Amino acid sequence: MIIPVRCFSCGKVIGDKWEPFARRVSKGEPPSDVLDDLGLTKYCCRRMLLSHVELIDEILKSQEEKETIEIRGGS
Ligand SMILES: [Zn+2]
Repeated sequence: MIIPVRCFSCGKVIGDKWEPFARRVSKGEPPSDVLDDLGLTKYCCRRMLLSHVELIDEILKSQEEKETIEIRGGS
């Protein structure tokens, strides 16, 4: 969904690291190097970014389509 602000296990702030992480990994950098650069050395924090799936844009898209159908009077 949306990246949590803090690591679930240790409480370190990780919310601000998702954008640079996703951008650099999509450009082809190895995720392990990017995590090291961002200062995420503990494996509890690293799994927060590695296992995250950004779904909010997909949910918003389907919600907009649903509202459009309701406005048109469909089911
Ligand atoms: Zn952590």
